[in-house]
Amino acid sequence: MTSDDPFWQRKPLDKLSREEWESLCDGCGKCCLIKLEDEDSGQIIATDVTCKLLDLGTCQCSQYPQRSKYVPDCVTLTPENIGDLNFMPATCAYRLLAEGKPLEDWHPLVSGDPNSVHTSGNSVLNRAVPETEVEDAELEDHVIDWFDGDAVKWELIEIDPDDEDWDDEEEQDTAGNGT
Ligand code: SF4
Ligand code: SF4
Repeated sequence: MTSDDPFWQRKPLDKLSREEWESLCDGCGKCCLIKLEDEDSGQIIATDVTCKLLDLGTCQCSQYPQRSKYVPDCVTLTPENIGDLNFMPATCAYRLLAEGKPLEDWHPLVSGDPNSVHTSGNSVLNRAVPETEVEDAELEDHVIDWFDGDAVKWELIEIDPDDEDWDDEEEQDTAGNGT
């Protein structure tokens, strides 16, 4: 290891600065999915239903600084507790490093592209619904098998708000949703 290696390879998790620690989050949003616990085995099972505070357009918490006020059971990750959090996805950067594994090549710190977590299909983008739209009794119907991997690649499309065709399509969609 050399001083040219990136910080996450050079420094243990408990020696990272606050900024370095926060930058490790790849922005996948998977930790904000609602999980179920098997009563018999204790196994944690993820659904595609998200916490009400997750912004599904960005996969970011919409109230990150004050999230505990609105969602008291939202766990704050620390170097001390990351090793015990079995509900984190196997792809989570914190979990990977805590287990002595390298970051994935789609991690924004590795790729240099903040969208690579989405375009590689490793975020919840386009694959989740908010808890405000799902009844508790329906949660079992939302169990997923892609929590720990199984990416679906996306192509992000830049939308030009001046594009007249796009305006027409949106007006049609809006009219359709109102019926
Ligand atoms: S699972 Fe890990 S990397 Fe993904 S958003 Fe949550 S904390 Fe960040
Ligand atoms: S409060 Fe924010 S960080 Fe916590 S689970 Fe909900 S969306 Fe995720």
